[in-house]
Amino acid sequence: MSGTHIPSPGPATNGHAALVLNATYEPLCVVSVRRAAVLLLSEKAEAITHGEGFLQSALKTIPIPSVVRLNRYVKVPHLRKVSLSRRAIFARDRWRCAYCAGPAETIDHVMPRSRGGGHVWENVVAACARCNHKKGDKTPKEMGWRLATAPTVPKGAAWRVLGHRTPDPRWELWLGSRN
Ligand SMILES: [Zn+2]
Repeated sequence: MSGTHIPSPGPATNGHAALVLNATYEPLCVVSVRRAAVLLLSEKAEAITHGEGFLQSALKTIPIPSVVRLNRYVKVPHLRKVSLSRRAIFARDRWRCAYCAGPAETIDHVMPRSRGGGHVWENVVAACARCNHKKGDKTPKEMGWRLATAPTVPKGAAWRVLGHRTPDPRWELWLGSRN
């Protein structure tokens, strides 16, 4: 069983990335299409779904891999946490203000930082500049505002694998729900 490692993520951009599934079909990581091709050519993985077009190497031409599955099971040491970033917060909140549902352009701390509120998933929301400015150093309760949903740490395979990235539609079957 040794010698099989989680493939290191290559420079992966939308359309040039492949989803790697564990032998159990559980989503494992996202790698560059080239890296996925290497896994296929070295028979460490099998192709599950193809993208559009072909990849040419000196020896072979193969369809661009979109989803590949490792032949050997890889033990995942621990679930990767989704790191807190501006982009990830916007993605979680779908670019909508948590207070008025308008387009969000700022990040608001529900319990203001000046009053001990932490910079953690459970205390940050996407907000429009207007609401953020109006709220200032107050809590939603003091403003008489309600949060439509309590902010939480994003969960699920899609988030674990992708963080804030938008998944390739071909991966949907394997990623399930985003929350
Ligand atoms: Zn707003």
